[in-house]
Amino acid sequence: MRIDIITIFPKMFDPIVNESILKRAQEKGLVEIRVHDLRDYTEEKHRKVDDRPFGGGPGMVLTPQPIVDAVKKIKGRRKCKVLLTCPGGKTFKQSQAKHLSNEKNLVIICGHYEGIDERVKDLVVDECVSIGDYVLTGGEIPAMVMVDAVVRLIPGVLGKEESLEAESFEQGLLEYPQYTRPANFRGKTIPDVLLSGNHEAIKKWRHQQAVAKTKKIRPDIIQ
Ligand code: SAM
Repeated sequence: MRIDIITIFPKMFDPIVNESILKRAQEKGLVEIRVHDLRDYTEEKHRKVDDRPFGGGPGMVLTPQPIVDAVKKIKGRRKCKVLLTCPGGKTFKQSQAKHLSNEKNLVIICGHYEGIDERVKDLVVDECVSIGDYVLTGGEIPAMVMVDAVVRLIPGVLGKEESLEAESFEQGLLEYPQYTRPANFRGKTIPDVLLSGNHEAIKKWRHQQAVAKTKKIRPDIIQ
């Protein structure tokens, strides 16, 4: 998969895309992540990419020209899914991450200031995506969230030890509680079944726990 990110703060991505699983995935050749500075695409001689909103009001709006031209140039002849980070978009979920992990080419546009000129959506955007009902300063963190969630679902990115099967949101459940050593931590012990060595009993216990936890915390996702 190739992922292109368009932003006015490309440096923000360095520590995220060059560490841990995202770094490993790139080294293995499973994903290529390219970060583009929006200012490289502006026709404005002072590299300006924003302007005041028509109709008045506070703040600045990202102008359409650099974004539209950046997307067109980055796409070239490739078929790409173009996502715009936007608090008013559809909320990003694990199911969408899974869906996107099957795409060959993704382009993610990061908004900033008061947002972007609305016409960009009609011209180059396939989907507007929000990471939750709150407003962040820019689309960089939402883009990182999406890239991380998508890349770890690409086959071969996670090792066996990081299996996805029982993870939260798989099969409409949250994950069962996890414990590690020591078995007694400051008087707090772990459920006996986990020390029993009985794999069937452990599996059953984990499923029951996952169902109970999901019913209690997230009844809306239970299937
Ligand atoms: N004025 C906009 C509004 O009220 O909807 C908010 C603009 S926000 C300060 C600037 C940029 O941050 C947005 O264009 C978007 O790219 C990004 N952003 C902020 N919150 C977000 C969220 N919850 N999900 C996705 N992107 C978000």
